[in-house]
Amino acid sequence: MLITKEIEIDMAHRVCFHKSKCRNLHGHRYKIEVGVDDKINEEYGTSDYGMVIDFSDLKDIMKKELDERFDHGAVFYRNDPYRSKLEEMIMLNDQSKDKLHFVDFMPTAENLCKYWFELVDKPLKEKGINLEYVKVWETPTSTAIYRRGDK
Ligand SMILES: [Zn+2]
Repeated sequence: MLITKEIEIDMAHRVCFHKSKCRNLHGHRYKIEVGVDDKINEEYGTSDYGMVIDFSDLKDIMKKELDERFDHGAVFYRNDPYRSKLEEMIMLNDQSKDKLHFVDFMPTAENLCKYWFELVDKPLKEKGINLEYVKVWETPTSTAIYRRGDK
């Protein structure tokens, strides 16, 4: 049984080698859908009897791994030639510190999708629940989907 849950976050990024406007520092309202594919719990009398995973438990994981880390934050490539300037600028707002991420990959929708899959997969794995895919909308018409086992 496949179940899904969505959240939305606002986040800045920059694709520093891009030929056109994606080079600019800008933001998106990302929609992130998580797909969990596992069996329905048949342990009679337990809280999540009849569920793949309690939707509120899934929401808590997404809030902790995605919303709390990235909402109203920024993600940049760690080899961005303007790294020090970006750091300086973001640090002007002290509250952004925890939400400023320099990562090992270009923060495109594809790479963010894979990264967010890994972040959500970890706590689900600890619960013995199978995460099947993560889908990211960078705009209302552009999406990336990372399925377990994808390259
Ligand atoms: Zn963008």
